[in-house]
Amino acid sequence: MSKPDDQELRERLTDIQYQVTQRHGTERAFTGELNDNKAPGKYLCVVCGAHLFDSESKYDSRSGWPSFYDVAVLENIEEATDETHGMVRTEVHCKKCDAHQGHVFPDGPQPTGMRYCINSASLKFVPTDE
Ligand code: FE
Repeated sequence: MSKPDDQELRERLTDIQYQVTQRHGTERAFTGELNDNKAPGKYLCVVCGAHLFDSESKYDSRSGWPSFYDVAVLENIEEATDETHGMVRTEVHCKKCDAHQGHVFPDGPQPTGMRYCINSASLKFVPTDE
């Protein structure tokens, strides 16, 4: 899938979904509706629907953003070096459509030791029973 049409996305996405996924924005901590979500299900890219994360690897990092210690489908995720804001971080985006998701840090729980710190606004949650 190529990058979606910008005008179509401006119409389809909410302001915060657009700012996060298309402009590398970050929602304010503890404001995302999926931050505290503990229901079983899949987390998809809000832009293209690619399966990115699963509820099984979601945990409470107390950071204020949905946090996962692993990805669901490795080939749907791509990482890049992000040197903005005076830091060197590893940015995470959807490999299918380039939608920015968040960052990954090496301070997560076992078994991976990784913390995927993801914006709620870049995710679409699909409960298991749907
Ligand atoms: Fe995507």
